[in-house]
Amino acid sequence: MRRAAQLIARGAGWLSRRLGRGGGTTVPGVVLLKLRPQAVRELSRGLRRGSVVISATNGKTTTARLLRSVVDDAGWSTVANTAGSNLLRGIAAALLDGADNADFGLFEVDEAALDTATRQLEPRVVVLMNLFRDQLDRYGELETLVARWHALIASLPEDVVVVLNADDPSVAHLGAGRSGVVYFGLDDRSQGRGGLAHAADSTNCPRCDQPLEYTLVTIGHLGHWSCPACGLTRPTPQVSLRTAEVTGIDSVHIEVQTPAGPLRSELALPGLHNAYNATAAIAAAHALGIETPRIGSSLARTQAAFGRGERIALEGRDLLLLLAKNPAGANENVRTVCLAPAPIHLLLFLNDRTADGQDVSWIWDVDYEPLFERAASITIGGDRAHDLALRFVYGGCERGRITVGTGVAEAIDHAVDSSPEGATIYVLPTYTAMLDLRADLVRRGVARAFWEEAP
Ligand SMILES: [Zn+2]
Repeated sequence: MRRAAQLIARGAGWLSRRLGRGGGTTVPGVVLLKLRPQAVRELSRGLRRGSVVISATNGKTTTARLLRSVVDDAGWSTVANTAGSNLLRGIAAALLDGADNADFGLFEVDEAALDTATRQLEPRVVVLMNLFRDQLDRYGELETLVARWHALIASLPEDVVVVLNADDPSVAHLGAGRSGVVYFGLDDRSQGRGGLAHAADSTNCPRCDQPLEYTLVTIGHLGHWSCPACGLTRPTPQVSLRTAEVTGIDSVHIEVQTPAGPLRSELALPGLHNAYNATAAIAAAHALGIETPRIGSSLARTQAAFGRGERIALEGRDLLLLLAKNPAGANENVRTVCLAPAPIHLLLFLNDRTADGQDVSWIWDVDYEPLFERAASITIGGDRAHDLALRFVYGGCERGRITVGTGVAEAIDHAVDSSPEGATIYVLPTYTAMLDLRADLVRRGVARAFWEEAP
């Protein structure tokens, strides 16, 4: 019966691809879970080295890729949902496809699916990185998610290692009262960003709900925090990012202290947020028992995930895709783009579909202003292009400098026509806009479909 369910599910995936339905990446998973609701548990129990799950609002895809490079170089044979959905059906589809030939599972999991997926996967290591305000209309308040994560962590067996970001108060507090927690965090004081930006999300104490104090703020509400009311403080991270030096538009030099000694790497990825992602991957590797100096070179060879610092050549221009789904991510992207010498060319997309979050008011929490004086051309597309254009105008950008077009192809063409040959066009899309953009670039023959992408 179990074998039959797997065969039928594989057949459904094949049929879906034949019908041209988006690669069929989750169809087999949907079918398999219908026939065998416990399929994820059954398949993952066959993985000799166990599995790891990674969740966060921002950075889980890139962190999964970074960790994938590390375990590949350690000689582990991995099944992962790298190119697919991060809900249970995507995990089921990945296991169906690759569990037979793998000894280890590596899964990035949607924040809201974390408890269901973790209970089925029974992982050895759970990595939780951050919770930013994101898609509130989909999930409800952050507090609900935090409560669900709390219940999950409390229910995990003692031998499961939990890896937590010490710099995110509500995530760090998930480890309270639990032994064997591995904390990671940023200890490079030169990366402080002054006070809390207005994009900061949860700045009250996770224990007593009084306002927190910060001696260092890094991204959004992440940093060195403490509660003057009850005395709760940021845990001291065992895996500590001592130096994070952004050396270019898509390069960061990092030095990380680990219990096994220092590690260095030159990441081929943009921004401080990727230094955090790499530190999370190093902490996860430590929790999995992989501690070799080679980790630095494994991280360095990791290419950006699609849409997340990826470069695509088009008509003599270079498109640099920087996905953002929320203010914290968008602010990091603005900082990254501002490292480029002016003048710059911008192509932004704003959608409000379910996966983007239907409330686009978050754009008012993004500090787009530093872009305006640097931009030689500004093209805005997407379903809610006019909302974003209005945001720019209110921020002091003259209306006449912005071209608004809702069609993806037209917007791309306009950005290309507005920039000289050899220019880099900085593309800042929301999630579904990035999928549309990618589909258009696949049609033009300059990008591969995401399901054809090498992990
Ligand atoms: Zn407190």
